[in-house]
Amino acid sequence: MFYELRKCPNEQLQALKSKLINMEFPAALRQLIQQPQNVAIFSHRNPDGDAIGSSLAMRHYLEQYGHTVHVLFPSEFPEEFEGMPGADEILVWDIHTEECKHVIAKKNLFIFLDFNQLSRIDKMGDFTKNLPGKRIMIDHHLYPDQMADFMFSDPAASSTCELVYQFIVGMGDSQKINPTVGKCIFTGLVTDTGSFRHATNANVYRIAADLVERGVDDAAVQDMIFNSQKEKNLRLLGHCLSNRFEYYPEYRTALIWLSKKDYEQFNIQRGDAEGIVNYLLTMKDVRLGAFIHNQPTVVKLSLRSKGDLDVQEICKKHFNGGGHKNASGAYSHDSLKATIQKFKDLLPQYKDVLLKNN
Ligand code: 5GP
Ligand code: MN
Repeated sequence: MFYELRKCPNEQLQALKSKLINMEFPAALRQLIQQPQNVAIFSHRNPDGDAIGSSLAMRHYLEQYGHTVHVLFPSEFPEEFEGMPGADEILVWDIHTEECKHVIAKKNLFIFLDFNQLSRIDKMGDFTKNLPGKRIMIDHHLYPDQMADFMFSDPAASSTCELVYQFIVGMGDSQKINPTVGKCIFTGLVTDTGSFRHATNANVYRIAADLVERGVDDAAVQDMIFNSQKEKNLRLLGHCLSNRFEYYPEYRTALIWLSKKDYEQFNIQRGDAEGIVNYLLTMKDVRLGAFIHNQPTVVKLSLRSKGDLDVQEICKKHFNGGGHKNASGAYSHDSLKATIQKFKDLLPQYKDVLLKNN
């Protein structure tokens, strides 16, 4: 079973969306959800609020049916999410490799959330690939691989959390969306839409309103996410904007880069550089923002765009990455300098769309 909603014209998309919400889930899927299984929930490397929120929401939903559930990520999540319900029990492959292997080997239901290629969970994907068991995938990135028995893929959705909400409602279980499940879902809605500023749709606001009515403290979630900076984060931001910021008005493009030395000097840890790329698009004329930073082992690119420029295509075609049309990422094994140069050399190719009046 595979739902691909992206290619549908608008009316068809709406029809399919409501079908997804009210759908008759196949008996085999209902059985998997409604009878206790041994479940592993996976999300992607560098997990963000949507990855964490959707994974924990699914865990707290499934536990109401008596499932045994573990949430597993390839790498650590940012500190601001440490207080989320169940965050302290998440297993991280990079840290608890043997325990992860031990836990995964016993599972019979694998749920993939907020990613659409097994390579996004690195070695955990290889380890899981040939194990027996059923697989469910729920995701909103472009161009999914066929990777599960039941695939819910909707690139028109704001977030995986939006789809998890729809999945639970589709199962006829809206009463299981308690304040704990709701808080987790709300977290993904907020983080993937930048506090309801982009990638929204009418459904996002309906879901947000429903969650608040179910007892979610929306202001507390926003506070947890956005008012949790440490002094060093603000100093790092200042450094980025004063010393590592480049602007190319002829391409309406802005860039921030960070070297390995910067990582050491500012003691940058997991999640500390998250969100810096977003400052670039706050400039009125900028259509493309790039954050290129030399993490301890790899060079990471984060691209953000406004309007028609498809950064997913740039990441996929030139850097073997992916994501969404206006927010994508990739990793490069070239040097920082070479990666920055490669990025700059691409700009002339995209000049027309960058200068288009939108
Ligand atoms: P970020 O720039 O914040 O790391 O990621 C932006 C979006 O692109 C997220 O939805 C993220 O899941 C996706 N993304 C980031 N890096 C990669 C990558 O290397 N490959 C793919 N396929 N997607 C990525
Ligand atoms: Mn997401």
